[in-house]
Amino acid sequence: MDVNVIVMGAGPAGSTAAREIAAFGHRVLLIDRAEFPRDKACGGGVSIKTAALLPFDLGPVVEHVVTGVILGDPRGSTVTRETGAPMLYMTQRRRLDMFLVDRAIDAGVTFVDGQVVDRLSEETPGTYVVHATDHDGHEARHTAPIVIGADGANGVVGRVVDLAPSAAHGVALEGNLPCPDGIPSWLQGHIAIDVALIPGGYGWVFPKGDHINIGVGGWAHAGPQLREHLAGYAQAYGWSVDALKDVTGHQLPLQQRGAAVTRAGVALLVDAAGMVEPLLGEGMYGAVASACALAPVVHRRLAGNVPDLAEYQRAMERDLWPDLERAGQLADILHAWPGPLVWVARHSESAWWIVAALMSVGRAEPRHSWSASAADAIVPRVASLARSWLRLRAGRR
Ligand SMILES: Cc1cc2nc3c(=O)[nH]c(=O)nc-3n(C[C@H](O)[C@H](O)[C@H](O)COP(=O)(O)OP(=O)(O)OC[C@H]3O[C@@H](n4cnc5c(N)ncnc54)[C@H](O)[C@@H]3O)c2cc1C
Repeated sequence: MDVNVIVMGAGPAGSTAAREIAAFGHRVLLIDRAEFPRDKACGGGVSIKTAALLPFDLGPVVEHVVTGVILGDPRGSTVTRETGAPMLYMTQRRRLDMFLVDRAIDAGVTFVDGQVVDRLSEETPGTYVVHATDHDGHEARHTAPIVIGADGANGVVGRVVDLAPSAAHGVALEGNLPCPDGIPSWLQGHIAIDVALIPGGYGWVFPKGDHINIGVGGWAHAGPQLREHLAGYAQAYGWSVDALKDVTGHQLPLQQRGAAVTRAGVALLVDAAGMVEPLLGEGMYGAVASACALAPVVHRRLAGNVPDLAEYQRAMERDLWPDLERAGQLADILHAWPGPLVWVARHSESAWWIVAALMSVGRAEPRHSWSASAADAIVPRVASLARSWLRLRAGRR
């Protein structure tokens, strides 16, 4: 197939990029190796700031609306804080990703599932060939001047064109607890987050329509103990790990600021580029934000107004990386002093608002914008202390 743009991977990043580019009138092919609808290891939490970037309502696939957080620390103390408004939509990736692909198809995108991309080559300068194989072994060849890698952690596109080398990564494991009698009342409208549960990470309890999603995530070296941590975490809530269905895990790629996300006619989106937020492991904001930033640049490139996609690199450096860096600083503070932080959140409404403002970094409501400015001044310094403390502690072990 000969098109203007090939997008590899039909997660939220790929389907959003494909839809946004097709809306400019370009011919777009969206390919995924899985047969859709497909599941993906994920808590399925879509933040309000992510939903706000989409030009349609996610209502049909939202299973629970979250307005508050039950925050727990390793000593077992908890505090419940309300935002007074929706902060997170709970979805299942199987349904959400299909819904987003359908919106791309509505915009004119050609979607091919069940085709594994094996290889990408540049046949003549500026013309890329994507070599794919379907589940019956039939080979396909697609050509385009622009190729977008939205093929997730360990994607083919990044490797082939040598972008995003050696990203650090986190790991996470999750499963679903069926709730035939409905979501327990203590969890209705809330999520539970238990900080510093494992090295560099946290545990979560997310209510969905007919089940609860429970998971743990942390630094890569926590990987081998992740199942044990998940079992212990479920147990702490009185659930047996054996009751969990569809237990799956995956990597969370975390890249350094400045890593290349584009070269010539090729660009990478979120997971493929290592742009997952390091505090909560939120990747869907980066997925949709990077796709929305890339689409107009692709349009300008196809219209011949710019020589390459370098504007996209600049947009990420300007708009997304500062948020990811701030989240990384908060993660360091949290992992250094989880107990005191929960104590502060419990005793100070203002401290809670600072955290809430930082969670939607740079997008605090006007009445809380002072919190964001105060945090701008304080957080980098405290994070630097936290990193020194974490290094010291690691050295003592
Ligand atoms: C356990 C866990 C929990 C998480 N919870 C949350 C959460 O609650 N909220 C949140 O915002 N983020 C969460 N994340 C992060 C989030 O899941 C990812 O950041 C997000 O899915 C990235 O979207 P994407 O479109 O880049 O990639 P993906 O959603 O991973 O999609 C990539 C697609 O590419 C396809 N693909 C891969 N290789 C090929 C190939 N060779 N050929 C063709 N197709 C290919 C795959 O089949 C897949 O469909 C979580 C991650 C994990 C691991």
